[in-house]
Parts: sequence; C-alpha cells; structure tokens
Amino acid sequence: MNLPRKELFHLPDGMIYLDGNSLGPLPRAVPERLASMLQDEWGELLITGWNKADWMAQPSRVGDRVGGLIGAPTGSVVLGDTLSVKVYQAVAAAIEMRPDRKVVLSDTGNFPTDLYMADGLLKTLKAGHVLKLAEPQDVMDAIDETVAAVMLTQVDYRTGRLHDMAAITEKVHSVGAVMIWDLAHSAGAVPVDLEGINTEFAIGCTYKYLNGGPGAPAFIYVRPDLIETVRPALAGWLGHEAPFAFDLDYRPGKGIERMRVGTPPVMQITALDTALDAWDGLGMDEIRAESIQLCETFISEVEQRCPTLTLASPRDPADRGSQVSFHFENGYPAMQAIIARGVIGDFRAPDIMRFGFTPLYIDESDVIEAAKIIEDVINNALWDLPEYKTKSRVT
Ligand SMILES: *Cc1c(COP(=O)(O)O)cnc(C)c1O
Repeated sequence: MNLPRKELFHLPDGMIYLDGNSLGPLPRAVPERLASMLQDEWGELLITGWNKADWMAQPSRVGDRVGGLIGAPTGSVVLGDTLSVKVYQAVAAAIEMRPDRKVVLSDTGNFPTDLYMADGLLKTLKAGHVLKLAEPQDVMDAIDETVAAVMLTQVDYRTGRLHDMAAITEKVHSVGAVMIWDLAHSAGAVPVDLEGINTEFAIGCTYKYLNGGPGAPAFIYVRPDLIETVRPALAGWLGHEAPFAFDLDYRPGKGIERMRVGTPPVMQITALDTALDAWDGLGMDEIRAESIQLCETFISEVEQRCPTLTLASPRDPADRGSQVSFHFENGYPAMQAIIARGVIGDFRAPDIMRFGFTPLYIDESDVIEAAKIIEDVINNALWDLPEYKTKSRVT
C-alpha cells in the first residue's frame, strides 16, 4: 500500500486535519517551488517569464494533470478563474447548444454559488429560461424533454451523498439534454471517468482535495468532439485564437484553450502543479478504497461513542463521497470546541458537523483519535461555553 503520503504535507503538530474537502493542506514542496518561481522567474525573467518559463502554457499543461485524475483525455481540461465563473461558462455554452429549450435543471443539494451563477446568467439573458430545482432523489424523474441542460454536483457538500454520474448522464442524453457535472468534491476524492460517462461539460476546483491552496484556480472540461463548436460566453483575450494579434473581433481559440478568459494566476498554478506531484503513481481506486475504510471506521467509532449525533451522510459507502457528516443541534459550538482540541472539521447550516477524509495524509489512528476527542466534547458538553457560540465569518 502506497498510502498515506503524510510526509509530503505540512500538518501542524497535534492537529488532525479533517477538512481537506474545504481546503487541502500545504504540500511541503510548495514553499520552495513558489520561492523559486518568485525569485528566478518573476524576479529574474520579469515579462519574459511568459515565454521563458512557459507561464502561458500552464493552464492547459497543468489542466491535463488534473484531467488525468478525472478520466479526461489530454487537451480537454483547462485551468482558470474560480469555480463560480466556470459554472457560468458551462451553463452559457450548454443552453446555447439547445436553443429550443428553456429549462436548466439542478437540485436543492447543489452548492448555492452554482445556483446563483446559473440564475444570474438566465436573468441576464431575458430569453425565458428558468432554473428548476428538484430534490436530489427526484432528479432522475425531473429530467424530461423540456430540459436544455442539467447541472449537478456529484457529491453533496453537506452530506456527501453521491449522484450516479453514469445513470444520470445517460438519462440526460436520452431526452436530448446537455450534462454539466460539478466535481468540486469529487476531483481527488472519488474515481471519475469523464470520458466513459460521456458528459458534455465538467467543472471543479483545485483547492479542496487537490491541495492547490487558497485561491487556486478552477478547471473546466469540454467533451473533445464539441469543443470546436462551443461558443465561449466569456470571450476573454486569452481564449482568442491569436491574443497577440490584438484583433478587434473575437475568434475562439483552438480546442479547450477557448475556455480561458484572462491572465492566469501563475503563482497559484505553480503551487498546484507542485501539489499534484503527491498523486504520482497513485490510482484513484486505491484512494477510494482507503477513503471508504477511513469513513467506515469514523462512522462506527462516532456512533458507538456519541449516541446524540445522528448520521447525515448515506450509510452505504457506495452512495457517499469522501466525507462524513452528522446532525447535532448544537453543531456550531460543538465544532468550535472540537477544533479548539485540534480536530479540524467544519459546520454547515443548519446543524451539520462535517468531516472530510483524505487518505493522502489521514490514517486509521487519526480517525480513532479524532473520534475520542469528539466523544469527550459531545458527551461532556464541553461546547457549552460562550466562546464557542459566536459565529465567525467563515464557518
Ligand atoms: C467549493 C465549491 C464552490 C466554490 O466556488 P468558488 O468560485 O471556487 O468559490 C462552488 N461549487 C461547489 C459545488 C463547491 O463545492
């Protein structure tokens, strides 16, 4: 077994980090690589770094590395912007492919920014489109011939509930609609086979399970047979066929490059490129098997120790991503008290205590240790102090 690869990460002493689903930890190799990028590239090369250090090629080159983890063929993934922006690009491109249809379908388990961005776009268009939401378990039934595009996040950010990508995509295609998968909590967490499921679009972020650091860019995948006909709604100069021709007219670039918008975040992509080294030689199936093991142990330990917590995640590992959530009415202060004792999870309104499991740097003994600390906090009501009850800006 190749796991865990703990020595590759900086993990503060005494901390058990169960929040890699929100922000991955710092890979040890990143500070040195970034320092050299700053000194030797920005410092010494200045503007010539775009060519000499090949900064201009980063979004596609490193995009391909991400693509390797989600079953995307070379040349079908590019990095840039934030995931919210990529949602906008994907929805805009998808509805243009089905001009006769006016419904974009998503579900109530989706992350709010995906819904806000889609709704904002549809309102701007003023073309009669509507964003329709189904309950996650009712999505299959809501897919019909009125639907132009279906946009879903595979792993529910609150509960970890997993959508069946292959079955849903097949249904979407059977009614002639276009599929967009958000892989925010999937990339680096569960095996994904974009090519196999044949989705038109996929998007996701790189600061969660891929450890690219706060503000790391998002990615977008477009199915290779469609890319030359997709019209980029965000027609930025770096998605132009010839940015340095400075033409007054926009002509979309070749292939996936057209989904670029403006200047790429070079420092962030450099950090991500280094962070991705942690995956070298690993298969996602190996990660998945280990993640299931860790989640199963966590559920059984917490349920035995803390009868007042109720499982919010699906019990069957086949229906769950790489996180485990519990309902607890005092979840916010309880999580603050747990964090104060060195176990880092997070809280999602209204009552969800969420813990992410990342086999690259979490092992079985961490899980058991974490469960003991949670037991102490919950069973002895250690959360019941004013200092744990004031809400911070980020929960
Ligand atoms: C984390 C997450 C986001 C975050 O979007 P940003 O624009 O990167 O802040 C969006 N959608 C989903 C489903 C997420 O899980």
